[in-house]
Amino acid sequence: MNIVLLGAPGAGKGTQAAFIQEKYGLVHIATGDIFRANIKGGTPIGKLAKSYIDAGKLVPDEVTCELVKDRLLNGSSGNGFMLDGFPRNIFQARELDKFADIDLCVNIDVDKSLLMDRICGRRMCSCGASYHVSTLGGATTCAKCGKPLYRREDDNPATVEARINTYTQQTAPLVEYYAAQGKLFTVDGGAGSPADIFAAIDAELKRYLK
Ligand code: ADP
Ligand code: ZN
Repeated sequence: MNIVLLGAPGAGKGTQAAFIQEKYGLVHIATGDIFRANIKGGTPIGKLAKSYIDAGKLVPDEVTCELVKDRLLNGSSGNGFMLDGFPRNIFQARELDKFADIDLCVNIDVDKSLLMDRICGRRMCSCGASYHVSTLGGATTCAKCGKPLYRREDDNPATVEARINTYTQQTAPLVEYYAAQGKLFTVDGGAGSPADIFAAIDAELKRYLK
C-alpha cells in the first residue's frame, strides 16, 4: 500500500505518519526532513533548499522530484511507502504518477485559524516526537527519549504565514486532484486527540487493505 499524506503545515502529518509507520510498517519519506538533514550536513541540496525553506516557499520541483524518485526507486519498499510533504503541487503529483502507483491520499483537514498557534507553539525532538508548549508544563526535554527539545527554524510567525499561503495556493488543489482519481480520504484533524485521528485513519487503511 502506497499512500500520500496531505495537509497544511501544522495539520499533524508527522504525528500521524509516526502512528501509521508503527502499525503498517510503511517506509516514511518526508521531504522536509530530508531537506533539513541536507542543510545540517551542508550538502549542495541543503545549500540550495535553505533559502526557499527560510522564505516558506517550495524548493524547486526538479530538485524535489529527483530526490523522491531516487528514494522510491532505490530504497526498500517492503509493505509500501508513505509520502509526507510530497507532492506539494500539481506538477509534483503528475510527476509522481509517472514513477509510482499511489493507492490512497490521506488528507488531514484542519481549519486555518488553528495552524499558526499549533506551529509556533511546536517543539520537536530529534527522535521524531513533537509537542506543543501548552502541554509541556515547562519541560524542555522529550518525554519519550529524554533529549532536549528544539524549535524548528522555520516555525516563526513570518515564515509560517508564508508556508500557509504556499499551501493554500499550490498544495490545496491536490485535494481535488486525488478526489478526481477516487483516492481521497479526508479526516478532520482539528477535532480530537492524535490517537482519535489515527483511529479514523486506521479504519480507512484497514478497509482499503481488505
Ligand atoms: P510543513 O509541512 O510543516 O511546512 P515540511 O517539513 O514538510 O513542513 O517542509 C518544510 C519546508 O521544506 C517547506 O516549507 C518547503 O520549503 C520544503 N519542502 C518540503 N517538501 C517539499 C516539496 N515536496 N516541494 C518543495 N518544497 C518542499
Ligand atoms: Zn525524543
